[in-house]
Amino acid sequence: MMSVHTEHPTSFALSRVEGRGQGDGDAPRSIPELGGSAEPQGSLADFIWFRTGGPAQWLVRPKDEEDLAAFLRDLDSEIPVLPVGVGSNLIVRDGGVPGVVVRLPKSFAKVAVEPGNRVRAGGGAMGITVASKARDSGIAGLEFLRGIPGTTGGAVRMNAGAYGREVSDILIEARIVLRDGTVATWSKGDLGFTYRHSAVPEGAVVVEALFEGVPGDSAAIGAEMDRIAEEREASQPLRSRTGGSTFKNPAGAKAWQLIDAAGCRGLTVGDAQVSEKHCNFLLNLGKANAAQIEALGEEVRRRVREHSGVELEWEIQRVGVAK
Ligand SMILES: Cc1cc2nc3c(=O)[nH]c(=O)nc-3n(C[C@H](O)[C@H](O)[C@H](O)COP(=O)(O)OP(=O)(O)OC[C@H]3O[C@@H](n4cnc5c(N)ncnc54)[C@H](O)[C@@H]3O)c2cc1C
Repeated sequence: MMSVHTEHPTSFALSRVEGRGQGDGDAPRSIPELGGSAEPQGSLADFIWFRTGGPAQWLVRPKDEEDLAAFLRDLDSEIPVLPVGVGSNLIVRDGGVPGVVVRLPKSFAKVAVEPGNRVRAGGGAMGITVASKARDSGIAGLEFLRGIPGTTGGAVRMNAGAYGREVSDILIEARIVLRDGTVATWSKGDLGFTYRHSAVPEGAVVVEALFEGVPGDSAAIGAEMDRIAEEREASQPLRSRTGGSTFKNPAGAKAWQLIDAAGCRGLTVGDAQVSEKHCNFLLNLGKANAAQIEALGEEVRRRVREHSGVELEWEIQRVGVAK
């Protein structure tokens, strides 16, 4: 396997990464070649929902599963790997993400129906695509994915859920490329699901999931999906730069109610604001950087702790390094 060494043209960009406070001593000197693409200083702010934050030291888009597996196998084990979907649950810190960020391209977004009311979805397939495929095939139970604006890989990793259902209710198994390049199929039991959490190991990429529903009427499933879409539109800032629910709901309580009661609705730090529409959502009103969004979240946690004694736990994944 060939490597991209520092004398390669991309090393120019890499040395700029080293100059940007991503830990000079830790900067990867080379990464293996792959069939897909590897972009040094790849912008994440271009696509993540908050539209802010620093770049990936390397933004890698593998061609297919074999390409990803070979790449991870040959990648220095010291180099951190972070998979991302569409960043609908991410704050990327302003200093960027050291190491490799893996983004699954379209080739990982296929969705197919299988016997037994099952739907097999690539890790890059969006929840709405999975739900729509199930609807078209008369498979009920996957409707909630309609309201979660992320990829299948992100949904498995986060055990995403809504309306009383979550991924662990419908998942049979997931195919995962582990950090060392091993490809494994993990059953639901292996994935250790709890509320908004799974045991997907650090640096491992979910490349496929097999879901199972129950027989249903396509029209009724479609109507339920429309209801979910309307409800979301009415209650969430869907057209804003946001990261979804900021904090997990503490046992027996709703995070938004605690935040509201602590007087945080509409609170701002620079251009970062607690949504007026749904106060468990933080917004980037335009020019907020990640540090301001994170500081706002910490201020909300402090006020809620003071007001109700509850310690809110971040649901949004905060990644990368501060500037
Ligand atoms: C308007 C809005 C509404 C939302 N509503 C809900 C909701 O109702 N319920 C809910 O649960 N969430 C909700 N979210 C949050 C978010 O959509 C989910 O957490 C979603 O699952 C994140 O998917 P993603 O692909 O964008 O992952 P990202 O945000 O890109 O990443 C989230 C985490 O998943 C990991 N990850 C991403 N892809 C992979 C992969 N292929 N393999 C392994 N790990 C991976 C990342 O490393 C990170 O730790 C909402 C967000 C927004 C913006």
